[in-house]
Amino acid sequence: MHTDAVLFDVDDTLCRYRRTGDELLAVAFERTGLDPFITLAEYHGRYPEFVDDSDSVADLRERCFAAIAAEKGRDPEAGRRVARAYADERDHGDVEPTAGLDAALSALDDLPLGVVTNGAPKMQSAKLAALGLADAFDVVVHAGYDAPAKPSPAPFREALSALDARPERTYHVGDSLSSDVAGARAAGVGAVWLTGGEPAAAPDEEPNPDPDPEPDHAIATLAELSGVLGR
Ligand SMILES: [Mg+2]
Repeated sequence: MHTDAVLFDVDDTLCRYRRTGDELLAVAFERTGLDPFITLAEYHGRYPEFVDDSDSVADLRERCFAAIAAEKGRDPEAGRRVARAYADERDHGDVEPTAGLDAALSALDDLPLGVVTNGAPKMQSAKLAALGLADAFDVVVHAGYDAPAKPSPAPFREALSALDARPERTYHVGDSLSSDVAGARAAGVGAVWLTGGEPAAAPDEEPNPDPDPEPDHAIATLAELSGVLGR
């Protein structure tokens, strides 16, 4: 089948932060002078509760850290301060490409390529620039900013229209079942799930054997992308 275009998520699909959440959290506590009373596992465990009502990851983190603080008999403001220090410490240019990224992009270099990311424009362009991909994509849709956030089909439709691509002949590649796979399906776009990147999943967890929603293809690294797209 002829493919019109391929879309990509950014975080944990094109790249990952070099500095882990554990490292940042330790620095955030150090900077605020508080004893470390929140673990990354607690944060990741509570994270899904705040996704629906948060405007941004920074907002989500503040509310989540405040809730954990309150639960532990701490001042919620202390949790918010740690969350703000965490956000301050994060360098969005300090990212590394995910495995197989170069090979995947060179195999697709004759196709229109787009990005559909739930991330602030400034933050995501710092990442693309650091990866040397500032001009690699024909369209970048910052969902949640230029359009409603994934899994809304709206940001996918915006990318399709910019690329003049038909949904049934377009694929979206992303690590999140709940935003990438669900959103692509809602827009009628083929979904390629990069396994193992769900934010709430432990790093050593096996990929979900029964993913919901179901992707059209599941790949462990981007090196497998051109193969599943039949190129
Ligand atoms: Mg992602």
